[in-house]
Amino acid sequence: MSEVNYNYLKLPGNYLFADIKKRVDAYLVKNPKADIIKLGIGDVTQPITPQVIKAMHKAVDDMASKETFRGYGPEQGYPFLIKAVINGEYAPLGISVEEDEIFISDGSKCDVGNIQEIFDIKCRPAICDPVYPVYLDSNVMAGRTGNMGVDGRFEGVIYLPSVKENNFCPELPAEVPGLIYLCSPNNPTGTALTKDELAKWVDYAERNKAVILYDSAYSAYIRNPELPKSIYEIPGAKKTAIEFKSFSKTAGFTGLRCAFTVVPKELKGYGPDGCKISLNSMWNRRQSTKFNGVSYIVQRGAEAVYSEEGAAETAKLTDYYMDNAAIILNGLRKAGYEVYGGENAPYIWWKLPDGVKSMDFLETLLEKCQVVGTPGVGFGPCGEGYFRLTAFGDKQATAEAVTRIIKKLA
Ligand SMILES: *Cc1c(COP(=O)(O)O)cnc(C)c1O
Repeated sequence: MSEVNYNYLKLPGNYLFADIKKRVDAYLVKNPKADIIKLGIGDVTQPITPQVIKAMHKAVDDMASKETFRGYGPEQGYPFLIKAVINGEYAPLGISVEEDEIFISDGSKCDVGNIQEIFDIKCRPAICDPVYPVYLDSNVMAGRTGNMGVDGRFEGVIYLPSVKENNFCPELPAEVPGLIYLCSPNNPTGTALTKDELAKWVDYAERNKAVILYDSAYSAYIRNPELPKSIYEIPGAKKTAIEFKSFSKTAGFTGLRCAFTVVPKELKGYGPDGCKISLNSMWNRRQSTKFNGVSYIVQRGAEAVYSEEGAAETAKLTDYYMDNAAIILNGLRKAGYEVYGGENAPYIWWKLPDGVKSMDFLETLLEKCQVVGTPGVGFGPCGEGYFRLTAFGDKQATAEAVTRIIKKLA
């Protein structure tokens, strides 16, 4: 008998996002001529930059001749890209990372979803609320949680509320976790943790023999020079944290697929008898067995992100989106709305008036302004009462959406 992994059945499914689509589609059936502006997308919209395209064209040609053709590459990534990451990402921050501490992959979503499998089933996860849903769902699928309660929370998970009352910065939990998922800048709140905030977590993880899983997919959007772009800017973090970074939001690679994960060699997990075990070796074993590397062509494209011209083009790309973020943030603030984020992240987190449900607000915004965003409840129970707008749209459309909100919503 083929019994299924019944842990999957504990998940409510993608009802919310399916529901959003249903409501937008229903509106379009009734109003076929409506000019809808989508500020709900968590995907980039601007094309790949010229330097990356040029590098990939050249890599395609490499594949065409016997001397430069590549078959299977190293599962951990090509040394040329690993070196580019070290020099382009970590050296400027004064962080030393060794080549065999970096694992190139086809996305941070896969890595943050897969990483939990090198930890014991009894290892309790602490997860921010609201946050990117992959951390929670991958732990539910693995069987590390019980069922979901009526409050929308899973048994066995330590929730870290990130709400207005704590400036959207998670507080140290009362119960001790084995795994701590942090996302900074956070999707959806747009909050970036300060060095002091992060140091508090690094110290806590060290004292409690926990591991921090640090998702910094949006670090390229940090504009305040005081804020850390890597957790390894915090002394001692190499002993406590795994860091995930992606080319997706940085350089528009959501369709190309390339990311990397840093697993420091000093970082240890614990065996049944309390002995220390290298997480770097375990992740290497996992990747070598279950992953066959990122396409050579795409890795050459990613390498070009760190060339001088490539870096300048990439900076322009993130600046474009951050201009959109400023348009939304300033426009809504001037109109008297309570909005957060948007200064060091491409997300604006809109606090709805007390008592307004985020799913109902989706409908209101659609009816009155023909603008679509994402109800906060989709990112966790603490996201209820909030609404996420993204800066990934077209500039003109973004400005038009803000104008409509100011004119028509009140
Ligand atoms: C978009 C995003 C990622 C990136 O995922 P990829 O698989 O690299 O495209 C990772 N974490 C968060 C929080 C994200 O929003």
